[in-house]
Amino acid sequence: MTCRSLRDLDDPETNFEFFLNEFQVIGGGAAAAACFSLNSCLHAAILAPVLHERPQYGVIMNIHEYQAKEILRSFGIPVPQGRVAFREAQVERAARELGGRCVVKAQIYAGGRGKAGGVRLVATPEEAVQTAKNLFGKTLVTPQTGPEGLIVRRILVEEAVEVSREFYLSLTLDRQTSRYCIIASAEGGMEIEAIAEKSPEKIHLLTIDPFVGLRTYQARKLALALGMRGNVCEECVTLIMNLYRCCLEKDCSLVEINPLVVTGSDWLLAMDAKMNLDDNALFRHPEYQEMTDLSQIDPLEITAGEFDLSYIKLKGSIGCMVNGAGLAMATLDMLSEYGGEPANFLDVGGGAGRDRVAAAFRIILDDPAVKGVFVNIFGGIMRCDVIAEGIIQAASDTGCHLPIVVRMDGTLVEEGKRLLHESGLNVRFTHDLTEGVQAIVGMVR
Ligand code: GDP
Ligand code: MN
Repeated sequence: MTCRSLRDLDDPETNFEFFLNEFQVIGGGAAAAACFSLNSCLHAAILAPVLHERPQYGVIMNIHEYQAKEILRSFGIPVPQGRVAFREAQVERAARELGGRCVVKAQIYAGGRGKAGGVRLVATPEEAVQTAKNLFGKTLVTPQTGPEGLIVRRILVEEAVEVSREFYLSLTLDRQTSRYCIIASAEGGMEIEAIAEKSPEKIHLLTIDPFVGLRTYQARKLALALGMRGNVCEECVTLIMNLYRCCLEKDCSLVEINPLVVTGSDWLLAMDAKMNLDDNALFRHPEYQEMTDLSQIDPLEITAGEFDLSYIKLKGSIGCMVNGAGLAMATLDMLSEYGGEPANFLDVGGGAGRDRVAAAFRIILDDPAVKGVFVNIFGGIMRCDVIAEGIIQAASDTGCHLPIVVRMDGTLVEEGKRLLHESGLNVRFTHDLTEGVQAIVGMVR
């Protein structure tokens, strides 16, 4: 991946690949980037593939399509009529209310459902129920879920709409300029990534100045660029203005409408919606907490949230326990640099007590992919003896025999080392980061 800023995209000739990677970091549910102010592309390189597979909790807030559409509707954006269902009987009733012919849509924290059989057009309530039967409880695997997939617990039943044209429209935060930007294309539908790659000139980008805000002439220019004319064009201007208002008021880090459609009778309609909310703004929107669907989140991440730990599961085999997000990112970078694959990002924080450290270590050990643990601690406010006690407690609770490489320094470091040394755990100490990283990489091989 090349290291480029999103600003380069003002140039239509620019290769769109980087943007997509970056976009997936945002859209895939996890701007760990947002939370930890990641700017380095190396960080993004480590996280991007994972983030776009796994929904995150406590970093970025995901909500379902039906919830996103409720919010959009409250901002005057036209969405299809629909009902969410948790059971088959509710699907049948919803389908009847909508007149029989309808669309049955699996609600999971990932897109790409259409191609995975998660979106079905049905002709009758009976067919709707049959489709729902097959979907409820099923694990849906899409290009965005990773191989483990996500389980379907909720289904959106919507009126079927006759589509004459499909567009792509999204509003997201460009972290490079710290501004909202609008991305739009006349080639919407399911293949936006491919379009961005093959014909980047078909994608329009507008960066919004936060002081001036979005002006109608800018929205109109965009609608015209999408080929809209007349009433539809004016509808689209209103829609874009409302979308921006929605992002500001609801503190969205992403709203993606794909497809935005012109119906057979020339109405504009948000046919699909994906919304990410910035959890830093939770204090302004207490209702967001309850909107989270825990069935869509990795249980280890839920536990981490309960203990107020910043934990993100990654794909590798080296568990990492670090304090400080910056040190944690540096640790991941170093592991990757020396051919290791981190199993997680974990920041235990500055003032963690023994129980929180133990919880953190247990979360690391609960991941079956973990073959060894790298502990990298700088004891400032954090005391090294507390870290040691937490590790020992968690390791003895779980009967852990995995190799552990410890690099720690700072407050009460000698006491911490003594405790670990006497614990009988498979611990190796190191003073040097490179040496420690090489040691753990060698041990898990
Ligand atoms: P995604 O694959 O997870 O992004 O799910 P979408 O909600 O975007 O649905 C996938 C595709 O199904 C859309 O791109 C549409 O082409 C199609 N689709 C969804 N609802 C309708 C509908 O009411 N009528 C028609 N004709 N197509 C629909
Ligand atoms: Mn879609």
